[in-house]
Amino acid sequence: MIINGKKEAEIIRAEIKREILSIKEKTKKAPSLTVILVGDYAPSKIYVKNKEKSALEVGIKSEIIKYPKNVTEKEILNKIGELNNNENISGILVQLPLPDQISKEKVINAIHPSKDVDGFNPVNVGNLSSGYKSIVPCTPLGCLLLIKKVEKNLSGKHAVIIGRSNLNGKPMAQLLLKENCTVTIVHSKTKNLKLECLKADILIAAVGVPNLVKKDWVKNNSIVIDVGINKVKDRIIGDVKFDELKDKTKAITPVPGGVGPMTIACLLKNTLECFKAHQL
Ligand code: NAP
Repeated sequence: MIINGKKEAEIIRAEIKREILSIKEKTKKAPSLTVILVGDYAPSKIYVKNKEKSALEVGIKSEIIKYPKNVTEKEILNKIGELNNNENISGILVQLPLPDQISKEKVINAIHPSKDVDGFNPVNVGNLSSGYKSIVPCTPLGCLLLIKKVEKNLSGKHAVIIGRSNLNGKPMAQLLLKENCTVTIVHSKTKNLKLECLKADILIAAVGVPNLVKKDWVKNNSIVIDVGINKVKDRIIGDVKFDELKDKTKAITPVPGGVGPMTIACLLKNTLECFKAHQL
């Protein structure tokens, strides 16, 4: 089975759109997302544009605040403070990466946890790892929703996650622990990666190394989720050798058309949740 992330994301977006429409009819209010974009890094500009387009399509008000790449950290922190205090703003997102003069840590800490649609603020990270209600980072949330489309009950499954980033690997592990999986995280210093991957009922590759996961790294009937986005020549490919694995696995995500569309759908979901929690 090839997991169609594009289709699943469309379903989520349609649900969000319906819910926002009904809220608007009853309350005349709607969620809003403000994105801060610093500099002119081309991929960031594309990501931000896509986020804005998707937000507008479901009825989320969207604003992009652009700064030149030499903007000071203070200016960004002041703007975040202002947005935190603006009751008309449901969600705040600062597009990463940031230029060297701006501390990513300070920026992430500055966004109020209740408006942190990326789920990166340590309060949300702590809540997630304590098993409490929290805003969950969009990509791992999207991965979990795709996995649960294939298998509802994940209890006792062995999940192996390649990659330990704050963005992907670590929150993914917390989500799967909450689902009662046995979780292994592997990374660049892991000895015998292949052997660890072979234990996986569910394998998640969030690495950024094209075609790292080969056919003899996965066991029959496993679920494989490929988070990787790697530009090779003029193509986007994942971390998994999709063509080799697709007949061996129970279910697998393609790249593109797998996890990517779910990330944006989950950002919209998080924005709606922030709005409902604080503005309704
Ligand atoms: P990251 O911060 O660079 O983390 C990569 C992780 O992979 C690190 O933990 C690193 O280990 C590990 N790693 C690197 N090379 C390895 C190797 N040869 N063997 C085993 N582990 C290795 O990356 P990220 O932000 O998590 O992103 C990972 C990938 O997902 C990228 O391709 C990115 O573009 C993509 N991505 C996709 C989406 C989406 O929506 N689909 C969203 C976000 C990111 P160490 O910790 O030891 O260095």
